[in-house]
Amino acid sequence: MIIEVSDLHKSFGKNEVLAGIDCSVDESEVVCVIGPSGSGKSTLLRCLNLLEEITSGEVVIDGSSLTDRRIRIDDVRAEIGMVFQQFNLFPHKTVIENIMLAPMKVRDLNRESARARGKALLEKVGLAEKENAYPGSLSGGQQQRVAIARALAMEPKIMLFDEPTSSLDPELVGEVLAVMKDLAQEGMTMVVVTHEMGFAREVGDRVLFLDGGVLVEQGPPEKIFDDPQEERTRAFLNKVL
Ligand code: ADP
Ligand code: MG
Repeated sequence: MIIEVSDLHKSFGKNEVLAGIDCSVDESEVVCVIGPSGSGKSTLLRCLNLLEEITSGEVVIDGSSLTDRRIRIDDVRAEIGMVFQQFNLFPHKTVIENIMLAPMKVRDLNRESARARGKALLEKVGLAEKENAYPGSLSGGQQQRVAIARALAMEPKIMLFDEPTSSLDPELVGEVLAVMKDLAQEGMTMVVVTHEMGFAREVGDRVLFLDGGVLVEQGPPEKIFDDPQEERTRAFLNKVL
């Protein structure tokens, strides 16, 4: 297990947003997280790389417990790439500069190696010709692919995606999902919060249904989508499918 979450609680003030989550993710597994808005999906992802402080419980990433004071948070974080709904690219830097930045700063990669790695990643996401473009001149789908390349430049062991296609025009969703599918097929460990049920069904090894801060049900996609056991899962799927 590369991710192990035990009895994870997260509260904001009196508002308990995660009410005891137990789940784990295997190496090379693709886990899709679905559930209604406000159910705690983003908070769960953010707890996995300590963008949120854990209220109680435990998260173990690749053998390191995030609540252990002896671990170096930045080391753990460097193993985890994150892609958000908003692309968060630096607007005044070119595409390649956006990708080169973190490896040079955090991994001490020299400029030439960082550039070579960046070019290879742009090739991989189908944007080799956009190396010197500025983010503002790209479509949303292209910007999100750059954001994925940027996360990959750190050579993470795990990639977390929080609704990566939710802000895209419908015709641009496919190109981003295709890049994610390639990544999954190469064996990347991925946790993907998504409303793209087709993607979850096709690419996901396992689907987690969250509602009200509780992991209501989990299982292989065909089980969750075609034969859900819980009434809450059925009600949600009836609305979105
Ligand atoms: P989802 O991603 O499933 O839509 P979130 O994890 O974003 O849900 O949010 C779950 C709940 O936690 C919501 O009620 C939200 O208002 C609350 N919440 C999330 N982040 C914060 C925060 N930083 N401060 C206070 N409340 C928050
Ligand atoms: Mg969210």
